[in-house]
Amino acid sequence: MDLTRNAAVALDAADPLAGFRSRFAGADDDGPDRLLYLDGNSLGRMPLATPAAVRRVVEEEWATGLVGSWASWVGTATRLGDALAAGVLGARPGEVLVGDTTTVNLYKLLAAGARARPGRDVLVCSADDFPTDRYVVAGVAAERGMTVREIPADLDEGLDPTVLAAALDERVAVVVLSHVAYRSGALADLPAITRLVHDSGALVLWDLSHSVGSVPAGLTAAGADLAVGCTYKYLNSGPGAPAFLYVRQDLQTQLRSPIQGWFGQRDQFEMGPVYDPAPGIERFGAGTPPVLGMAALEVGAGIVAEAGVGRLAAKGRAMTELVVALADGWLAPHGVVLASPRSAGRRGSHVTFAHPQAWQLTQALIDRGVVPDFRTPDRVRLGPAPLYTRFVDVWDAMERFRAVLADGSWKDFPAERSRVT
Ligand SMILES: *Cc1c(COP(=O)(O)O)cnc(C)c1O
Repeated sequence: MDLTRNAAVALDAADPLAGFRSRFAGADDDGPDRLLYLDGNSLGRMPLATPAAVRRVVEEEWATGLVGSWASWVGTATRLGDALAAGVLGARPGEVLVGDTTTVNLYKLLAAGARARPGRDVLVCSADDFPTDRYVVAGVAAERGMTVREIPADLDEGLDPTVLAAALDERVAVVVLSHVAYRSGALADLPAITRLVHDSGALVLWDLSHSVGSVPAGLTAAGADLAVGCTYKYLNSGPGAPAFLYVRQDLQTQLRSPIQGWFGQRDQFEMGPVYDPAPGIERFGAGTPPVLGMAALEVGAGIVAEAGVGRLAAKGRAMTELVVALADGWLAPHGVVLASPRSAGRRGSHVTFAHPQAWQLTQALIDRGVVPDFRTPDRVRLGPAPLYTRFVDVWDAMERFRAVLADGSWKDFPAERSRVT
C-alpha cells in the first residue's frame, strides 16, 4: 500500500462517494487546521438538508396544520421503517418500525422473544457488549425469573462463534448480540451466528447500532429473527432521533410487546376497552412517535440509502485499512497497539487502539483538532464515517496522532479521566 499523502489524495479522487461530503455541515472544510471528526459512529454529522426538513414539520405541519397533521404523522413510523428495510437493512416491507430508543426497543423485543419461548429459562449475551444491552438483559431475566449466561468475548477480536456454540442448549430462549462491537469494531458473522442460534431452537436479537449504515445487515437473507438499532450514529439523524426495531414477518403474531400501548393497538382510534395488538409490525409501537426526530431520520436514512450500504462498507474497509497501515508505521513504535481485528473483512467502520494513557492521548488529539472517542479501559477509538470523511482526512488525523506521540505533548493533559464522557 502506498502510504504517502498523495496516495490518499488519489484515493479521494477515485472515490464514488466523494460528492456526499458537501451535503454535511462542516465536512467540506479543506484548511490545514480543519477539524478532523472521527466520531461519526457516536454522533454523526448533520446533513445540511435536516434543518429545513425539521423546520417544515414545525412551521407548516405543527404551526399551521395543528392537530390535522396527525393524519400524515401516524403513518410515518411504518413508512420510514419500510424505507430503512429496503434501503439500509435488507429487510422486507412491514418488518421495520421506527420509534422509541434502542434501549426501549431492545427491552420490548427481548421480553417478547423470551415470552415466545416458554419452558426456556436462559438469556445469552456477550460479556463485552454495550452496557445498555447487558443491563436490559439482566433486567428482563430478573423480571421473568430467568438466568443470564454472559459469554466471554475478546475485547479486541470480538465473539468467537465456538464459544457461543458451547453456551447454546435447549434452555436458551433468546441470544442478544451486537453486529459490530462498539469498542473494537469487530464484525460478527450475522448469517452464520443466526443459523447457529436457530439450530438450538432459540431466537437471536441483533443490535445493529454500530453497523447500520456502515456494513450491510442483510436481515432477510440471513433469516434474522429480531433486531434493533439507533439512528444518530452512521445514519446521521441527530440527537433524539428515534431508533428502529425489526421483527421477521412470520414471528410478528407470535410476539407481544410487554408495553401494551395504544400505538400498538388494532384500530387505535376506536379507543377500545381492552388491548388487542395490531396484526403487523405496528404492534411493537408504544406511544406517540417523535415526529420531529423522524423528520431528521428521513433525511439521514435517505442519504445512506442513496449512497448504498455496499459502497459505504467498501469505503469503510478501505479507510480503516489505511488507519491500520499508518498506525503500524507511526503509532506502534510509541507503544500504541491495534485493539481491533487486523483483517478488514472482520471489522465495521471503526478501529481502536490501546495505550496505557489512552485518556491523555484522547485529550491531546482533541486539542490538535482530531476528535476520536475514549473507551474503557485504555482505548482510543477512531471512526472515519465513509459518507463525509476523506482518505486525506484519515491521513492527516494519523499524522497529528503521530505528532502528539512524537513530541510527548500528550503528557501535559490530566491523567485522571473526567466523569462526563
Ligand atoms: C449507541 C448504542 C446504543 C444506544 O442506545 P440508546 O437507547 O439510543 O441510548 C445501544 N446499543 C449499542 C450497541 C450502541 O452502540
